[in-house]
Amino acid sequence: MKIAVIDNDKIITQETDTPALNNRTGAIVQVLGCGLCGSDIVKFVHKISKNGTVLGHEIVAKIVDINSHTNFKQGDVIVTSHHIPCGKCDFCKHGNVSMCEHFKKTNIIPGGFSEYVYLSEEHLENVAHLKPDNLTNIEASFYEPLGCCVRAVKRAGLLKGDTALVIGLGSIGILMAQALKAYGFNVIGCDLISDRVEFLKNLGIQAYKEIPENFKAEGIFMTSGADKAIDTALKFVKNGGKILVFSSTPNNWGYANNEIYYRELTVLGSYSPSPDDLKDSLKLLTDGKVKVSELSTVYNLEDIEQAFEDTMSNKIMKAYIKVIK
Ligand SMILES: [Zn+2]
Ligand SMILES: [Zn+2]
Repeated sequence: MKIAVIDNDKIITQETDTPALNNRTGAIVQVLGCGLCGSDIVKFVHKISKNGTVLGHEIVAKIVDINSHTNFKQGDVIVTSHHIPCGKCDFCKHGNVSMCEHFKKTNIIPGGFSEYVYLSEEHLENVAHLKPDNLTNIEASFYEPLGCCVRAVKRAGLLKGDTALVIGLGSIGILMAQALKAYGFNVIGCDLISDRVEFLKNLGIQAYKEIPENFKAEGIFMTSGADKAIDTALKFVKNGGKILVFSSTPNNWGYANNEIYYRELTVLGSYSPSPDDLKDSLKLLTDGKVKVSELSTVYNLEDIEQAFEDTMSNKIMKAYIKVIK
């Protein structure tokens, strides 16, 4: 089968053995498509992942072989995420599922940018769902990234009637803004790129290139990876408000101690979703509360390097890698 792997400064496709169940429980799935996540880009650019790594985890796939106690069967088209929390450790008990050792250890094998993938029984039991009929494969591929946003919205714990500001309107910012709206908050977005501001406005959510001077929000959602975004967050957060950190920044700058102290701010991170967040994400997509149909640009697996380049240069919002021909 064909896979895409990291090869120093390149992503190349190559042939490898197709996985088989060989008496294991779980399923072999044929990957129909896989979204390219910002975290895939970070792992590639900052060389966090080794040569030979198959990136990709936002898959839509068809079950071709299965040995499972679940109700899934051969031919089912499913969505799944890659990590599963143990539910019992100290991290899980505190709701920090993405810090759980088991969560970090579990994965889809070899990765989403591959023609076939092995899913464990645990994936089938906890994080896999049938693809709803009213969603296209591309729309369904937002199951995991939207799950990350749902988790961030829940973690922020805003109150009814609160206002949220989303800083950075790439695909994740667009998802975050819609998720916040779906949970009943007042939302505005901002980005320096006019097209992205227009994109959010077309979804019925107010957005600006420059936020009005006197604006204040109870919750700031940092979906921009620019250092400057931190100043914007501190400027527009209401005293007593929350800053939800949802991206890395190049210089690893922090939030000023005295701002946090004198203004009683809460700065908190949110990384990866729990099985419940994922369920809620799928419902938002199925109910049309979060619209994703215009976000993706489609690439074939052979053209995956172009997808990486176009994402990094902000030429596109989101790449969907069509794996099946
Ligand atoms: Zn992702
Ligand atoms: Zn755990």
